[in-house]
Amino acid sequence: MQIVKTKTELGRILDGHRKSSETIGFVPTMGALHAGHLSLIAASKKVCSITVCSIFVNPTQFNDKSDLEKYPRMPEKDAEMLEKAGCDILFMPEVSEIYPKTDTRKFDFGYIDTVLEAAVRPGHFNGVAQVVSILFDMVKPDKAFFGQKDYQQVMIIRELIKQLKLKIEIVGCPILRDADGLAMSSRNLRLSKEERTAAALIPKVMLGAMQLKESGRNMGQIYAYVEKKLDPNPIYNLDYFAICEADTLKEVSSFEPGKAYIALIACFVGNIRLIDNLSLNSLS
Ligand code: AMP
Repeated sequence: MQIVKTKTELGRILDGHRKSSETIGFVPTMGALHAGHLSLIAASKKVCSITVCSIFVNPTQFNDKSDLEKYPRMPEKDAEMLEKAGCDILFMPEVSEIYPKTDTRKFDFGYIDTVLEAAVRPGHFNGVAQVVSILFDMVKPDKAFFGQKDYQQVMIIRELIKQLKLKIEIVGCPILRDADGLAMSSRNLRLSKEERTAAALIPKVMLGAMQLKESGRNMGQIYAYVEKKLDPNPIYNLDYFAICEADTLKEVSSFEPGKAYIALIACFVGNIRLIDNLSLNSLS
């Protein structure tokens, strides 16, 4: 695996591959890698001849400075994991390489950039769009792989591709979970032992919500169940739970046959904010 720090070197290496008609797959990450990230590398390796992974903790997508400072960084371990996973190129730029000057671009993604994560983290997706568009320009991949764990982010990236008229195929990959169901996340590393055990309730509650839908309960009953289960106590603090149309993220008040729905959640466990989602159509 080649480890590259500058866009010039990256461009030179990738131009060589492109000349020999190799397809380039790209997996952007913020590091502190886990099996969820590696599943994206595997998905890329399956269909592309060259896989590039970037590790860059993007300052413009953090609206909370202390969250940015506390974000786990472990570049050596990450590089080892990527090497073992068969990644071809690891791109680890400095902030000044990505942002030689301040990026002042403001994107307009409409409704999907006003709800859920966007509502609680103002400017977050604008920062994501900034960094992803810059990385896309540097890597110029044929395909880019994103986790459905960040469901709203995948929708934003698809919209970004449309708006910038980029010819990149966006591949959404399934959520990888620990044995107790908790969605893998770099943030899980910051949970205490007690909090980590408690966090397993989040996916259980999501499954419970799905089962209530399957058994014909109405929306009010499903929301009440989730809120009761994650009732604020010293550990949990529910930020949002919403059942939305899967393709628009519009929150719904009832289910219509034949439509795809998704339940999305953000919940603090201690001081750590975790997100998860579950398609509500997987049992039907
Ligand atoms: P991050 O480093 O958190 O920005 O994540 C980089 C990529 O990995 C994003 O596309 C995430 O959606 C994806 N990802 C994070 N956690 C998981 C997971 N548990 N399963 C699958 N993909 C994931």
